[in-house]
Amino acid sequence: MTTNGVSIPPERARAAQAIAGILQPGGRVALTTHVNADGDGVGSEVALWHLLRARGLRAGIANPTPIPERFDFLLPPGADRSDRAAKEIESADVVIVLDISDLGRLGDLQGAVTHSHAVACIDHHVSPASLPAGPRLVAPEASATAELVFDLAGALGWELTRDAARALYVGILTDTGAFRFANTSPRVLRVAGALLERGVDPEEIYEAVYASAPEGRIRLIAEVLQTLVVEPDVGLAWVTVPPDALARHHATPDDLDGLVEYPRSIAGVRLALLFRQIANGRIKVSFRSMGAVDVAELAHQFGGGGHQKAAGASFEGTPADVQEQVLEAARAYLRRR
Ligand code: AMP
Ligand code: MN
Ligand code: MN
Repeated sequence: MTTNGVSIPPERARAAQAIAGILQPGGRVALTTHVNADGDGVGSEVALWHLLRARGLRAGIANPTPIPERFDFLLPPGADRSDRAAKEIESADVVIVLDISDLGRLGDLQGAVTHSHAVACIDHHVSPASLPAGPRLVAPEASATAELVFDLAGALGWELTRDAARALYVGILTDTGAFRFANTSPRVLRVAGALLERGVDPEEIYEAVYASAPEGRIRLIAEVLQTLVVEPDVGLAWVTVPPDALARHHATPDDLDGLVEYPRSIAGVRLALLFRQIANGRIKVSFRSMGAVDVAELAHQFGGGGHQKAAGASFEGTPADVQEQVLEAARAYLRRR
């Protein structure tokens, strides 16, 4: 079937019908996404919030961690209930998990989601699914979860308002690196075109997402870039966020988004890494690759996940030990190809 000039694969249309089948008018729906929500997670949630409200459902966003300020401009008043997320999920008739299939990425909400009676999922990750059973619209070949929410609306004949289109555009823009990464498909550009036809202003979105940085973000980036190490013989480069750097710059994890693109942008680098400490003493590693290097495979070795060219994993251990372990695995991987 074709909607807004974009054809929808039959398996996605069937998955959309299955999700619609568990949504009853007047029902409560909790929308959630992975810890440290990104533009795709938030954009998909906000778009669905608008779509569901227009169908007479009561929707609320319930995330495991606060939504980054960068996306406040998208949030309708009262939509975000992440400050009482577990309660929101417990009282919902249906939970829709967006931009992740892996229970482990739901942080403190894992328990609440496990005990929900109906859990739908819309996602584009390659990681193995560990959510409770339920209807799934999952397609690793999609550039963004927002692309799949676009398909859901299209398959069900749900009208996309300008507000829903703006939110989907943010998801697609951020997950494709502003239409630069390998997941920038002809199809997703057609979807973006359809969103612009719904009244999205690309310059307004660019300014809100990429050109409204707090000063601390830029000072933080300057400090992290000082830590750059390059190993040209294997094509490896990495940066490390110094302990307490976020606090000193009044920054949040969202301020690090996109930073790993700097080591990746060095000529000859095939694998770029970013190391940082996260909550409960764990170490988070972001993996990015160029060309044929598959970082999802590397991240899976450490219990993480993601996509072929963008993946992540989190570790127990001291920063030095984790770094040594990951760098050894990365060098060995690069030498094999
Ligand atoms: P990031 O490096 O946080 O920007 O994440 C890059 C990609 O890897 C995204 O698709 C994430 O959803 C995924 N990812 C990041 N961290 C993890 C993790 N600890 N476990 C599984 N997937 C992850
Ligand atoms: Mn994401
Ligand atoms: Mn995504």
